[in-house]
Amino acid sequence: MTDERDEVRARIDIAELVGREVALKRAGKVYKGLCPFHQDRNPSFTVSAETGRYKCWSCGETGDIFTWVMKRQNVEFGEALRILAKQAGVTLANRSSTPPSVKQAQEAAMDEALRFFRDQLTRSSTAKEYCDGRGLDQSALDGWEIGYAPDVGEALAVHLKKKGFSLGECKNLFLVDQDAGGGYFDKFRGRLIFPIRDERGELVAFGGRVLGQGHPKYINSSDTPLYRKSRVLYGMNRARERLSAQHQAVLVEGYLDVIACHRAGVTNALASLGTSLSEDHAKLLKRWCSEVVILYDSDDAGQKAAERAVKILSAENLRVSVALMPPGDDPDTLLRRVGPAAVQKAVAGGLSPMEYGVQALLQRLSPNQPEFWGEAVTLLAEAPTEMELDRQIVRLAPMYPGLKDSVQAQNALRREVAKMRPNVRTNGNRDRSSRPRSDASPAAPQLAGAEIVVFHAFLEPQFRPRAWMFARTRDLFVTDAGTRLSEAIATAFPQAAPQGPTSEWLHRIEPEELRQLLSDLTLDLRASRLSDEYVTDAVQKLREMAGDRRLREVREQATGSDEEYQYFLKLKERKPDALAKPKEEDGLF
Ligand SMILES: [Zn+2]
Repeated sequence: MTDERDEVRARIDIAELVGREVALKRAGKVYKGLCPFHQDRNPSFTVSAETGRYKCWSCGETGDIFTWVMKRQNVEFGEALRILAKQAGVTLANRSSTPPSVKQAQEAAMDEALRFFRDQLTRSSTAKEYCDGRGLDQSALDGWEIGYAPDVGEALAVHLKKKGFSLGECKNLFLVDQDAGGGYFDKFRGRLIFPIRDERGELVAFGGRVLGQGHPKYINSSDTPLYRKSRVLYGMNRARERLSAQHQAVLVEGYLDVIACHRAGVTNALASLGTSLSEDHAKLLKRWCSEVVILYDSDDAGQKAAERAVKILSAENLRVSVALMPPGDDPDTLLRRVGPAAVQKAVAGGLSPMEYGVQALLQRLSPNQPEFWGEAVTLLAEAPTEMELDRQIVRLAPMYPGLKDSVQAQNALRREVAKMRPNVRTNGNRDRSSRPRSDASPAAPQLAGAEIVVFHAFLEPQFRPRAWMFARTRDLFVTDAGTRLSEAIATAFPQAAPQGPTSEWLHRIEPEELRQLLSDLTLDLRASRLSDEYVTDAVQKLREMAGDRRLREVREQATGSDEEYQYFLKLKERKPDALAKPKEEDGLF
C-alpha cells in the first residue's frame, strides 16, 4: 500500500508550492529565488522539481514539501500533512478518528462565514444595487468573492452557532463580538464584505465597507490567530504571478482601488488594509519585486501617506516611483470616469519621489512666492544622490528670482541647498555619503543610474571593449562606488577588456566587495534593455556631469577676473562633454 505521504508528494509540485511565497525563476534544471529564511540579497535559494527538495546555498535551509509547510506556517508534521493532503485532494485514512485541530476549526469557521456573506449578497437588492453603481459586475463579485453582511444584529452569529461553531472561537476571528450581557452579535453589519486572502491564497480575514455614506467607512479585521494585518496585502494572491514576472507592484489605498486596477488590466495592484504600510509589508513586497509604483489619492492625506510609503519602501532598497493622479480621483473613480487606459497611463507615468515632490510643489505654490524657494531648498536638500540633485537644480534654476544667467542661478540655488546639507558638493568634491538612492538598481544602490548602464555594458560581450575604455577614463564616475569599481576594472585588466564568460574573469576584480557589486548587476533586469543608444546616452550624461563639476570648480576658484571661467563656459556651450578628462576616447561612443 502506498503511504499517504507518497501520494501527497506525488501530487504536489514543489515549485508551485514554494512559488506561492517566493518569486522563482527557472535556471536550467532548477528554480532560483530569494531565500525566505534569511535576508537574501542574491538568489541563493533553489528548488528542484526533479528531487522534490529546496535548498538555500547561503543559510543552509533545506527540505521537502512537508518541512516547507511546517516551517512557513509554523505547524507540526500532522498539520502539514493535512494541509497538503487537502490541496492534493488526498483523503487521509485516519482523518475521522482524530479531532479537528484548532487551526482546522478556525479555517472552517472562516469558510462558513464566507459562504454566508456570499449567499446574503444574492438576497439583498440594496447591496446589489450598490455594486452595480460601483461598476462591480458578476465576474468581479465572483472573482473577488465579494459578499454582504446584512444589517441585522446577529445574523452571522446565529448561523455559525447553528452550524456548530464555538462563538467564543469566532470572536477570536473577528467575526462576532460579545455584549455586556454575554450575548454574541455580528462584527459586520450592513456592509459589503471583502474576503482577505494571504499570499498563499488562505482566507485569513474580512474587510467591510459601508454601503453609501456612513461611519466608519471601513471596518477591517484586527489581528487574529490567522491574520497579521502588517503582513498581508490585499490582492497579493491574485497579483503574485504578474509580480514575479514583472518585478513591479502597484500600491493603492483600498479594496475598490485594487479591484479597479485589476479590472483595468493592472493586475499587479495591491493595498495595505486598515493600516498604513509597514516594514513587514515592504519586506513581503521585496520578496516578489524590485520596484513599487505608489498610486494613492491626490488629496492631502493621500500625499502624506505616499511620502511615508516612499521612506519605508526605499529603506528596503525597493525602487519607488509615485504616480500623479488627476486631482480628486482615485483608481476606482478614474476607471469609471475615464476608462482602463487612464489607470494604465497613471501607473506608467510614475515619477521619482524627488520629481514628484517638485511637481507637487509647483502645483501648490508659484516660484514668485518667497515661500516657494524655502520649500524647494528643503526638498532639494533631501535629494538621495548628487545626480538627482543636479537634475532638479537644472530644472528649477530658470525660475530662480533675480538671476537671468542660468549657471549663476544654479550656483546660487546650490549654495542655498548646501546650507541645509553640509555634505553637498559645491566645489566639485564628491559627496561620499550620497546613498542610498531610490532610483538605482536594488542590486547596486550605491551607483548612479548612468554608471549602472556603463557597468552593465561591461558585463555584455558586445559592449565590453567600449565599456572597458570608458572605465579607464579618470574623473568621469560620479559616485564613490562607481569610481572605485572603474578603477578596479582598470587595474584588473590594464591591457585590454577581458574575453569570455563573466565567471572566467570576474575573480580578477579586487576586492571582493567590488566584485560582488559588479556580479549583483548581472541580476539587474534592466541589463536586458541595453542598446548602443542607451549606452551612448549614459556616457553623455556622465560627461555632462563631469563637465558641470569642472565648471563649478573653476567658478569657485576663479572668482572675480574669471578669464578661465569664461573660457570654460564657452567651451561648454560649444561642446558640453569637452570638459571630461581625459579626451582620448572621444568618438568612441
Ligand atoms: Zn537562506
